Amino acid sequence: MSKFWSPFVKDLVPYVPGEQPKLTKLVKLNTNENPYGPSPKAIAAMQAELNDDLRLYPDPNSDRLKQAVAEYYGVQSNQVFVGNGSDEVLAHAFHGLFQQDKPLLFPDISYSFYPVYCGLYGIAHETIALDEQFQIRVEDYARPNGGIIFPNPNAPTGCLLTLAAIERLLTANADSVVLVDEAYIDFGGESAIALVNKYPNLLVSQTLSKSRSLAGLRVGIAVGHADLIEALERVKNSFNSYPLDRMAIAGAAAAFADKEYFAHTCQQVISSREQTVAGLQQLGFTVLPSAANFVFASHPQKDAATLAAGLREQGVIVRHFKQARIAQYLRISIGTPEQNQALLDALSTL
Ligand SMILES: *Cc1c(COP(=O)(O)O)cnc(C)c1O
Repeated sequence: MSKFWSPFVKDLVPYVPGEQPKLTKLVKLNTNENPYGPSPKAIAAMQAELNDDLRLYPDPNSDRLKQAVAEYYGVQSNQVFVGNGSDEVLAHAFHGLFQQDKPLLFPDISYSFYPVYCGLYGIAHETIALDEQFQIRVEDYARPNGGIIFPNPNAPTGCLLTLAAIERLLTANADSVVLVDEAYIDFGGESAIALVNKYPNLLVSQTLSKSRSLAGLRVGIAVGHADLIEALERVKNSFNSYPLDRMAIAGAAAAFADKEYFAHTCQQVISSREQTVAGLQQLGFTVLPSAANFVFASHPQKDAATLAAGLREQGVIVRHFKQARIAQYLRISIGTPEQNQALLDALSTL
C-alpha cells in the first residue's frame, strides 16, 4: 500500500490466473488452453501483417474481424463487439450494462473473475447456489436483479445449460441483461447467439483463447442486440480506441474463416475428453458431465489438494480451487492424448 494510490485501490481483490510456469517440460493441464496450435491459416494471416504497416495504428473498429464473426454467425456487424480477450469484453459489459440499482446475479460456483469486476466497478452482486448436481436452476434467478451472468458450459464444472432453459431465463428477466459467457461452448454446446435476434436482453460473449487456440493473441467477442453493443462501444471508446492490434485482427478473422481446422481440433479435444473421463472413472473418480475442454473430478477417498500437490511433483499441473463447496475437486484441462495419459499414469501412483 502507498499513500500515492487512489483510495479504492487498497480494497481491490484482483483475479489470480492459473500459473504459467516458466519450465517447459510440465504437462500443463491447469488453464484450459487448447493442446493443438491455431489454424495454420490464422498464423499465415498474422505473418502477413508483420510489415512496415505496423507503424500505422490498426483499424479502431476491427471491421474485418467483426465482418468475419457476423458472417460466421449470420448476424449484422453492428451486433458484434470485439475486445482484447473476452476478459476485456466482460469488463466493458460489467461497466456499461451491469452498474444498476439492483444486484447482479451469478452462480455461487462460476468464473472467479465476476466478483473481481464487481469490486472494480462497485457493482452489488448476489450469488445463486447451483443445485446438488452442480447445475444452474434458472427458476432460482427469479428475484430482483440488475443483470445475470453465467458461463455456459459453466466453469469450473463443465456443466451445460440447454438453450430452452436459457430462453426461460431470458423471458422471465426481460428487463435485465442476461450475459451468457460461452468461453467453452464449442466443445459440445449450442451457442445462444442463435437467440440474439429474438431477445434484445441477451448478450453472448466468446473467446478465441480456448476452441480457437489463440490464448496468446488475446481476442474476445460479444454478440447481441445493436443497442447492447453500442453500450460496449461507448465504454471501449472511452478507455482504449485500439484494443486489437493488426496481428490480432488478421489472425482472429482468419481463425473464424477456417471452419474445417476448427471443427477437426474441437472434435479431437472432445474425443480425448471422453477417453480421459473413462480413465478417471476407472481410477475411482467421480466426474461431472462436461461439455467443455476440461473436466471437474473428485475422488471419494483422496483429498484433492493432496492429489494436486502429488501431480505437481510428477510434473503434471491441474487447477485446484480452495472454495469450500468445490475444495474436493480438481479441474483438469484436456490435453493431447499423450498428456492425458501422463495425467492418468501419475494419478494411478497417488
Ligand atoms: C478463459 C475464460 C474467459 C477469458 O478468456 P480470454 O478471452 O482469454 O480473456 C472468460 N470466461 C471464462 C468462463 C473463461 O474460462
